[in-house]
Amino acid sequence: MTPKGRQVSHIDAMPRIAVHYERLPVSGNSHWNGTVDHLPQYRGSPARQRFTLLHEFKHIIDHGACDRLYRDVTRRGVT
Ligand SMILES: [Zn+2]
Repeated sequence: MTPKGRQVSHIDAMPRIAVHYERLPVSGNSHWNGTVDHLPQYRGSPARQRFTLLHEFKHIIDHGACDRLYRDVTRRGVT
């Protein structure tokens, strides 16, 4: 059965995105090296990898716009 929805391969195929697997103390993270957004992921279940990758990809999309996007969201008691 072919999985539905966005998969790791869809994100990894995007320009300036590099998904790779490392032994990490967290599920995943993302960082920009000036050329490419690196998305190192811890190998978990396929569902966990997909969730974490899409979560980290959202951080890339949000970067620089969090104040506008989440102006009504309270963080640690501060709006
Ligand atoms: Zn996060």
